[in-house]
Amino acid sequence: RHLSKSYNLNGQTLPVLRSLSLDIRPNEALAIVGPSGCGKTTLLRLLAGLEKADSGQILIDGIPVTGVGTERAVIYQEPRLLPWLTVLQNVAFGLELRGLSRAQAQERAGRYIRLVGLEDFRNAWPRQLSGGMAQRVGIARALTVQPEILLLDEPFGALDAMTKLSMQEELARIWGEEAVTMVLVTHDLEEAILLADRVLVLTNDGTPPSLVTVDLPRPRDRNSADFV
Ligand code: ATP
Repeated sequence: RHLSKSYNLNGQTLPVLRSLSLDIRPNEALAIVGPSGCGKTTLLRLLAGLEKADSGQILIDGIPVTGVGTERAVIYQEPRLLPWLTVLQNVAFGLELRGLSRAQAQERAGRYIRLVGLEDFRNAWPRQLSGGMAQRVGIARALTVQPEILLLDEPFGALDAMTKLSMQEELARIWGEEAVTMVLVTHDLEEAILLADRVLVLTNDGTPPSLVTVDLPRPRDRNSADFV
C-alpha cells in the first residue's frame, strides 16, 4: 500500500517507487517487468523484507509485516549454495536452523530434491552441478521451508537458452503442484507471459506503472492433460 522508495546517489535523491499500491492474489503468479533501473529488484527486496520502504505498508492477509518472514522465500539469480555441504545438506540446512531434527530436515529436503528432479544428485557437491542443476537446488531449498510466497529475482538470468526453457517449464510445473504465490522479476517479456497470470510493468520516467492480465491459458491449466 502506497510504497515509496528513494535512494541517495551522489547527494541527489533518486525516486524509484512512488506510492505503489498493488494487490497480489493468493496462488497467482505475478511478473514484474520494466526497463533496467526501474525498480524491479527494489520492489522485490521490499516485499521480501530485505529493504525498508520510505513510506507505505506491506500487508500479508491484511496484517502489516516488517522485515523477513518464513512465509516468504527468495530465489536469486545465483543460488549461492554452500560449497562444503552436499545438495541434500544445502536444502536441509534452513530447516535445521528452524529447529527440525537432522533426520526430519533431510527427509523433507529429500522430497523437494525429488520434486526438482535431482534425486540422483542428493549426495553431490555444488561444484559437481551445472548452472541449471544448481538453480534447481536453489528452488528446492526455497520450497522446502514451505513458503506461502516465492519471490524470484531473475531466477534464470544466468542460464543458457536451452536450460532456461526447461527450467521455465519446470517452474510452471512446480507452481502447478504447490500452493504458492509467485512474484517473478524478469527482464524477459516472453518469460513473463509464459509464467505469469498478470504482469506489472514498471517505468523509469516517472509515469505510473501498469498491470496487464495475460490472456492466455494459465500455467496451471497448461499443465493439465486437456491443454494441447
Ligand atoms: P535491472 O533490470 O537493471 O536489474 P531494476 O529494475 O531491478 O534494474 P533496481 O535494482 O531496483 O532496478 O534499481 C532501481 C534504481 O535504484 C537504479 O537506478 C539503481 O541505481 C538504484 N539503486 C538500487 N539500489 C541502490 C542502492 N543501494 N543505493 C543507491 N541506488 C540504488
